[in-house]
Amino acid sequence: MSDILVVGSLAYDSIETPSGKVDRALGGSANYFSLAASLFAKVRVVGVVGEDYEEADYKLLQSRGVDLEGLEKVSGKTFHWEGKYEGDMNEAKTLRTELNVFEHFNPKLPESYKNSSFVFLANIVPALQLEVLNQVKNPQFVGMDTMNLWIDIANADLLKVMKKVDVVLINETEAEMLTGAGNAIEAAAKIVELGPKAVVIKRGEYGFIMFSKEEGYFVLPAFPISKVTDPTGAGDTFAGGFFGYLASRPGKPTVKDMKQACIHGSILASHTIQDFSVKALAKTTLADLEKRLAEYKKVITV
Ligand code: AMP
Repeated sequence: MSDILVVGSLAYDSIETPSGKVDRALGGSANYFSLAASLFAKVRVVGVVGEDYEEADYKLLQSRGVDLEGLEKVSGKTFHWEGKYEGDMNEAKTLRTELNVFEHFNPKLPESYKNSSFVFLANIVPALQLEVLNQVKNPQFVGMDTMNLWIDIANADLLKVMKKVDVVLINETEAEMLTGAGNAIEAAAKIVELGPKAVVIKRGEYGFIMFSKEEGYFVLPAFPISKVTDPTGAGDTFAGGFFGYLASRPGKPTVKDMKQACIHGSILASHTIQDFSVKALAKTTLADLEKRLAEYKKVITV
């Protein structure tokens, strides 16, 4: 089993969906990712929180064996994101982003993190993704996520990161925005031209499209969930399940491994969306995942 280093946001989110509202609930790409990936492998977090970050929220990750040596606490407030979902809920409308302690974050990797073989650059300003990646000695497999904000205001840095990774995981709308493509199929092929060996486009209830230079397209639907309570973190959970699965396998990931990893990520994400914040994900066990995987096989088999 290999170690996974993740850099991403640790946040308090205020979220409104047709099912209700939560204020300053635990969120952030690194939190969702770590909770998901730690079901399979050892996770190391690089990030920053403010003085308001609650003890219970550290403990949640620690209870999953997550290494928090690279998580800094500084004076100021934790990153805060406010979002709203309407209609089919496949896309969040950002109402407010307060970078707070992330504004002056200068990640410095603990020595013990520098030999990590798997690296996931979760959604965070691309300059920070680069800074972290440059400090890892010889990573075996690197992935990244991003979002519309960075495509808009940090495009040049984002393209630099894309050249250095094995896989990009990205939302459908963002993939189209990044490439100017009219649909996810076209966007997938265009993203691979930007550098990565493979791309996974996340399509909410419609599942995912993976495209690799080696084997072309791999497309599957999501596990059918009739009541989505809060889709926040589905993408990061997908990435956590994807990376966790790969890190739990021997050797350098093949395209076939990545296909299985997509299925694991997708099924885990179907748990996350059944409650607000990290509530459902934090309760999900490997046995729950296996059970749903078996049900999923029936859904996609004739
Ligand atoms: P997703 O998996 O795409 O739904 O990611 C949701 C998480 O991303 C939320 O918990 C937010 O705290 C976090 N987030 C939102 N905007 C940003 C941003 N600009 N930088 C880093 N993290 C963000």
